[in-house]
Amino acid sequence: MTVFTTPNALPSTNLSSLYTSGQFALSIEIFPPKTAEGDAALRQALQEFSTYNPAFVSCTYGAGGSTRSRTLDWCREIIDRVGVAPTAHFTCVGSNSDELIEWLGQAWQLGVRNIMALRGDVPQGETEFKAVEGGFSHARQLVELIRKEFPEMGIGVAGYPEKHPEAASLETDIAFLKEKITAGGHAVFTQLFYDNETFYRYWEMCLKQGIDAPIIPGVMPITEYSRVKRIVEISGTKVPAELLEQLEAAHLRDDKAAQLEIGIEYSVQQCQDLIDHGVPGLHFYVLNKAHATSQILQSLGLKNSEITTG
Ligand SMILES: Cc1cc2nc3c(=O)[nH]c(=O)nc-3n(C[C@H](O)[C@H](O)[C@H](O)COP(=O)(O)OP(=O)(O)OC[C@H]3O[C@@H](n4cnc5c(N)ncnc54)[C@H](O)[C@@H]3O)c2cc1C
Repeated sequence: MTVFTTPNALPSTNLSSLYTSGQFALSIEIFPPKTAEGDAALRQALQEFSTYNPAFVSCTYGAGGSTRSRTLDWCREIIDRVGVAPTAHFTCVGSNSDELIEWLGQAWQLGVRNIMALRGDVPQGETEFKAVEGGFSHARQLVELIRKEFPEMGIGVAGYPEKHPEAASLETDIAFLKEKITAGGHAVFTQLFYDNETFYRYWEMCLKQGIDAPIIPGVMPITEYSRVKRIVEISGTKVPAELLEQLEAAHLRDDKAAQLEIGIEYSVQQCQDLIDHGVPGLHFYVLNKAHATSQILQSLGLKNSEITTG
């Protein structure tokens, strides 16, 4: 096990215990901006999110490790500016296990105590995922490494209610998800979805497979027709036909305000239904913007301390 020093006075949220008390946990996912304007806008958005008292804010890791140090810079900003625990996303793409340990050590030294442990996508122009020499082909191996080298790290892993695109079936995908939990993953954060029935079926299947880790739905607020259409085209995510029709009609009228209103109303209903079904938390893909998510959280009257799940 590698020994790294521990900074003082850190926000203490750890994914290993966050969901065990039955307390609902709100979490926010951001990505490192590419411009100074983006940085300034994100700082402002984070300020707004801090009023909703999220349990943690997570920061993505660029495809191919393109934001390697930016992810950690933003984790430090999350600690310093928002005062909540950061979760650093990390993938197996392009790093061997020594490099993975090195990066994890840097994260630990900066005060990161939670990692979203991912394999990463197949790099553009390639047809299948290939591990680098001395590296990993599956997220489970990264989970094992973190558990061994950094046993105090909280570990989140990814789940796919509509199946990971490369998986032969939902059943095999869930069997591999179980391996990630058995290896030491503490909580599952799902890919975004818009049809709650899909999520409930997935949740049930995971429970039947003996996955006892909390499964936290990933929610992406709808702000415009073209974005939803792109998501459907790229990933085949199921979107209720009536919602799509309403958004398209507003789009054809070039009515952006109506698209936003329809999207927010749908997201509020979606989140309320998930809460009513007793989900342990909600993980918001906010795309670095506060407006839509903020309106949704306000409509739900959602602050971390206000919901107790069963
Ligand atoms: C919440 C969340 C956050 C994300 N954040 C990022 C990010 O910051 N940066 C980024 O680049 N990407 C991110 N992603 C995307 C993710 O990297 C991709 O979806 C990637 O293609 C799969 O990653 P995984 O961790 O789910 O991989 P794995 O769990 O390794 O699964 C990948 C595929 O391999 C299969 N599989 C797993 N184990 C085995 C095995 N032992 N044998 C054979 N097949 C197996 C699975 O069924 C699946 O089809 C995120 C996804 C989610 C849901």
